[in-house]
Amino acid sequence: MATTKQKDYYGLLGVKKTATADEIRKAFRKQARKYHPDVNPNDKKAEEKFKEISEANDVLSDEKKRKVYDQLGFYSDQIDPATVDAASRGGYGRAAGRHDEGVHFGGFDFSDLENQPAGHGQQGAGWGNFKDIFSGIFNQGQQKARGPEAGTDLEYQVQVDFWTAIRGGTARLDIQRREVCSTCNGRAFSGGQAQCPECNGAGQVTQMGGRMKFDIQCPRCGGSGKAPNACRTCHGEGTVTRSEVVEFRIKAGTRDGQRIRLGGKGNAGVNGGAAGDLYLILKIGTHPVFSRILDNIHITVPITVAEATLGAKIEVPTIDGRAQLKIPPATQNGQKLRLRERGVPSASQDGARGDQIATVQVVIPHLRDEKSKEIMRQMAQLNPEDPRAALFKDI
Ligand SMILES: [Zn+2]
Ligand SMILES: [Zn+2]
Repeated sequence: MATTKQKDYYGLLGVKKTATADEIRKAFRKQARKYHPDVNPNDKKAEEKFKEISEANDVLSDEKKRKVYDQLGFYSDQIDPATVDAASRGGYGRAAGRHDEGVHFGGFDFSDLENQPAGHGQQGAGWGNFKDIFSGIFNQGQQKARGPEAGTDLEYQVQVDFWTAIRGGTARLDIQRREVCSTCNGRAFSGGQAQCPECNGAGQVTQMGGRMKFDIQCPRCGGSGKAPNACRTCHGEGTVTRSEVVEFRIKAGTRDGQRIRLGGKGNAGVNGGAAGDLYLILKIGTHPVFSRILDNIHITVPITVAEATLGAKIEVPTIDGRAQLKIPPATQNGQKLRLRERGVPSASQDGARGDQIATVQVVIPHLRDEKSKEIMRQMAQLNPEDPRAALFKDI
């Protein structure tokens, strides 16, 4: 059961529950001067407040209405004060206060209430109040008669092969999306009528108003007890989930994390609403030798001690075949050498390309023969500089 919020009319006017008719009248005049629409042009909040205090005054300034309000915690023109009195005397009402079951009133016809225009200004306080109390159930009913609703967007992560991301190509993806139901063409209902699921065919539902229970006309079927048959294919949704293979183009130079939007390929809308979009987040695969950072390709290149010390011209792989890399004399381990414009062609800038960056890794040989070891000793004698001297001199 939806819980409803009752309006505190006394609080709205700022008077005690024991206030006299005169006190109520004065309190209302004071509030009305403050919130009157003429004093607050184009102020929605003031207008709303003015309606509320008018409604409070309408009930509290009328002796009979006030009595009903005091008894039930709300007031409606639909309530016969005599019924309230009887209930109160019978020990069911708020005054008695010990019965959790509450009073069970006979059925009110809400069809008139729904069809009335929204209350403006001071009039119509009674039904406006009543409608608020049952707003929960009215809203439920309105959900079924909804207008066009746009479909939601979909998002999928797509694994793209390392080479496809660089050279471009097409890819396919299996997606699950809501499509307009072909059985009912999105109308959600098939022909014929069935028992209303809200009231189980009774035409009435029970609703709480404070501690009171009321039988009200079922807002879903309007009291007929019947509802249109839901479409058997989509079970009244208007859309169904379908698998679909989408094919899309991957631009050369596509970067990791890049997003592709396929307009209208998201979930179908309801009642003629536009379909959502499909977003593909591209996850670029790795390569055992090349690693890619944006448009640059990084590679580790092992070189010999001789190549590092004397310098050399060596061949290294690039993403479009072998290329010559010049190792300058005295190249250090970890040094980075750049091959300009040997990286990935830019997807956004025509003709632009990244670089390939080669990180040198000097491979130290295991000397096994005596002759090589002797040469190394001689070299050390010829080059007595201490590489640590400068670095550690102050420590
Ligand atoms: Zn019903
Ligand atoms: Zn259907």
